[in-house]
Formats: sequence, structure tokens, C-alpha cells
Amino acid sequence: MIHFVSKEDHIFKFSPKGSPALTVNPGTSIRLETMDCFSNQIRKPEDRMEEVDWDKINPATGPVYITGARKGDSLKVKVEEIKIDDQAVMLTGKDLGVLGHKLEGLHSRVLPIKEGKVIFDHKTAFEVAPMIGVIGVAPEDKEINCGTPGVHGGNMDTSLIRENAVVYLPVWVEGGLLAAGDLHAVMGDGEVCVSGAEVAGEVQLNVALVKDLELPTPLVENEQLLAVIYSDESLDEAVAGSVEIMEELIGARTGLSTADIVMILSAGGRVSISQVVDPLKTARCEIPKWILDNYGFSLY
Ligand code: CA
Ligand code: ZN
Repeated sequence: MIHFVSKEDHIFKFSPKGSPALTVNPGTSIRLETMDCFSNQIRKPEDRMEEVDWDKINPATGPVYITGARKGDSLKVKVEEIKIDDQAVMLTGKDLGVLGHKLEGLHSRVLPIKEGKVIFDHKTAFEVAPMIGVIGVAPEDKEINCGTPGVHGGNMDTSLIRENAVVYLPVWVEGGLLAAGDLHAVMGDGEVCVSGAEVAGEVQLNVALVKDLELPTPLVENEQLLAVIYSDESLDEAVAGSVEIMEELIGARTGLSTADIVMILSAGGRVSISQVVDPLKTARCEIPKWILDNYGFSLY
């Protein structure tokens, strides 16, 4: 059985006091209907960004309470399907994104999605590569708006979070209180203009619980690699944090020395930028699974 949560059940803050839209047992699949990051306020090219209600940014559908989840556990969230609407919207403007200092006013584009392509103009269409921008759980002791990433997940804008990926989210409060939204039809690493191809849709997640897997920050795994996702004030700090947490994860599970691990990461791993435009910056440290297999690494 697949449980459904409609877009009417959404939050703008991940909060330890959030009241659940749904309660499920671990191992359940849930389907979340999601609005785009502007709460679907821009639907036509004539819709003016100036009239957008900025209090309604980055809605996440949920939260979902997972029975038995406690601090010190992790949710293991498999992205089973991402279904997207047939149009996306992009936005940039003054003081937004990496080049906000060169822009005046607000600029938006409504992009049709046809036959697996996001049509930018008559010359350029991008292959759709749907991903989840916001996925997270309630933080332990404060509310965090859905536009900000952190160790609770949130607005990580990490392009690896797509169909068939598995996201591990550390649980901070009872039940976890999982929510997700901010789908992108496609997004380049960095998200330099401040938005991806923002799109409404539905996301189906299988939510398992790994008892006593205590993680300091979210991870994402796919067939090829494992990545540590870490957000901090600066990109330098985000990179350093992601590498250090990866080193600790590998060290604790293999007995390899710090010097060996960092050499392995330096030769065969990869540091990637998730986004540089949110209140905290997000980087990730990736390692191919074949290397982990060589040392008998198992996450739990
Ligand atoms: Ca986002
Ligand atoms: Zn977005």
C-alpha cells in the first residue's frame, strides 16, 4: 500500500514541533504531491514575479512521522519515482545567485517540458533529469526554514537526489518528521542563477529505518557512489566538512588510517558543489563504491 500526502499538507519550516500529516511504519512507500518552490505562483509568462508572495517559498510536503524513529537512528529514503509537471519555471534577478550584482529587477521564464526535454528557447532544450531540491527531517532544537540546508537535510539542492538514489537522513526527533519538495526538472551543479528548472510534481519515497545508525549529516548513495552532503557558511567550510565526515565514516568502518583515506579520496574520490546560492552553501564528498568494497566497507 502506498500512502498519499497532498500538496495541501505542506510546511515552510522543518520544526521539531511539526504536527504530522501522516504516520507510517518503517518500510512503507509514500507518495508526496509537491508544489514548485514558488508554491506554484508562476504559471504563465505574464505572471509577475513582483507579485509573488515571498513568504510562500520552498514548500515541502509532509511532515511524515515514522513509527519507532528516534534520535541516533537514520531514515533510509529510497527515491522510487519522481513525476514532474509539463512546465517548469526559472527565476533570477538583482542580488540573487552568483551574478545578482549584474542584474536589475527580476527575470523569470516559464519553460515547457515536452518529450523528456525542458525547452529553454528555440535553440536549446535540456534533457530532463528530475531531482529533489528539498528533503529533510525536523532539526533537534530549532525550526529551520525550508530554504536553508543543514544536518537535517532541507534545501540541499543536490543533483544526485534523483530516481533510484537512496538518501540517509539522521533522525533528530521522535518520528523524524520527513518532508520533501522543490523538485527540479533539471539543475546544473552550483545552481548559479538561484533556481533550477523549478517544477511541481509527485515524488514516491520508500522510507526505511536503520536503528542506531548515527550520522552527523545526510548521505546519498546510488549504484556507483556514496556521497556525504554537508552545508556551511562558506563553500570552503562545506568542502572541508564533507571530506572530514567521509574520512570518519570510512575510518570507523575499515580501520584505514586518515592518511590512507585522504590519499584514496584525493586519487579516486571527488568533491562536488551542490549549490552556492542558498543561505548556507552545500558541497559533497563522493567515493566510488568499488573502492569501498575493496576494504569491506558497510555503512551499517
Ligand atoms: Ca532549492
Ligand atoms: Zn528549487
